[in-house]
Amino acid sequence: MPAASAPGTASADTSADVPDAAAAPAAAAPLVRFRGVDLAYDRATPASTGVDFEIRPGEALALIGPNGAGKSTILLGLLGLTTVLRGTAEVLGTTPRRAARRIGYMPQDDEIDPEFPISLQQVVMMGRYPRLGLFRWPGRADRRAVAEALEVVGLADHADRRFGDLSGGQQQRGLIARAIVGEPELLLLDEPFNGLDTKNRQALMRTLRRLRADGIGIVVSTHDLELAEQVCSHALLMNREQVAFGPVCDVITPEYVTETFGESHDHHDTHDDLVAHPHPIVGVNAPRRPQP
Ligand code: ADP
Repeated sequence: MPAASAPGTASADTSADVPDAAAAPAAAAPLVRFRGVDLAYDRATPASTGVDFEIRPGEALALIGPNGAGKSTILLGLLGLTTVLRGTAEVLGTTPRRAARRIGYMPQDDEIDPEFPISLQQVVMMGRYPRLGLFRWPGRADRRAVAEALEVVGLADHADRRFGDLSGGQQQRGLIARAIVGEPELLLLDEPFNGLDTKNRQALMRTLRRLRADGIGIVVSTHDLELAEQVCSHALLMNREQVAFGPVCDVITPEYVTETFGESHDHHDTHDDLVAHPHPIVGVNAPRRPQP
């Protein structure tokens, strides 16, 4: 298995070969450290193998691969919801299961019934419940956190609207607000760009950049190489087995993309073509959700 960089040494933001210990602050401890991890839904059959990467605060990792490659399995593994058959999985300095309360997660198919009479801000408040516990009503701090999360995703003016009346892209951003309202240190997003039009896509990219600037670590599964290049520091290419991990510029290459998606994509594509075409591999891995 080729690897773009030795595990633990990749950093898109590090340009000097020899770090100046006096000038540079010590690198932040990794939020996630996976070493040679095989993940499974049962105790026997791995769905993702050889998963090996690190993420630090402010970094964003794109998980890239065809449908069934094991991307969601890795996201669930980060939450402690798939079984580690082999290797070491450390999240926020502990086991994934213990860390789960400090992680924001937006699943791929989180459909809230559009007929259900619930406002956007009530949906976002759901993300505070793990902090609230069973018997405490939301307080001022919770309401302020909801307002701030809506502001981050650009929906502050829509707080009182019925969730079902929002556009698909606005709903998607509302679900991201729900994932960040608990002030997570790590944010996991499963195919958040599927079905978004250009305007909502741009808005979501701005949101992710802002979260990175706030020091949150992000892991986002996507089939979209342009998104990965524009908002992520790192990429992990996956096809049941990890193909490569490293800074996006090192691993989103025609060779690794072919290895990940097979021979069916255009071999004449150059790296520039991959960047220039908004959805260069969409034919290999079409979005599962219908367009709005
Ligand atoms: P991706 O997110 O890249 O599309 P997944 O992680 O969903 O891929 O799937 C990886 C493999 O795990 C597939 O073979 C899929 O069938 C299997 N798988 C996914 N979900 C489950 C599940 N709940 N139980 C058992 N196997 C699953």
